[in-house]
Amino acid sequence: MECVFCKIIKKELPSQILFENDKVMVFKDIDPKADVHFLIIPKEHIESLNHLNQENNQLISSLISMSDRISKEIVEAKNGYKLIFNVGQGGGQIVKHLHLHFLAGKIKRCP
Ligand code: 5GP
Ligand code: ZN
Repeated sequence: MECVFCKIIKKELPSQILFENDKVMVFKDIDPKADVHFLIIPKEHIESLNHLNQENNQLISSLISMSDRISKEIVEAKNGYKLIFNVGQGGGQIVKHLHLHFLAGKIKRCP
């Protein structure tokens, strides 16, 4: 069965996209845990932070640097935000496609 985020990247599943380029995509979480909850993902399917290698580990800085851009565009994030990587089952990772949670405003629960 294909990865849900890969389906979103291919537009086989609908999502509310804030930004995308050839490497990175930013879209709204379907079940927001805060006033503002985006997912920042690489377009390449990589399972988690623990599955990076020397060729693709620079993707992490591309994901993190998206947060500066989001904070300038989204009013609730201008004052600050929270970034979370869940890694593996013990870290609460459900979707096995590397993603960075971007949260701002009132946080309801930890993603
Ligand atoms: P995880 O627990 O793996 O770190 O977080 C996965 C996140 O993906 C969850 O916050 C969940 O709400 C979100 N999510 C799961 N399926 C979909 C989907 O089909 N569309 C969107 N936009 N978000 C999803
Ligand atoms: Zn994937």
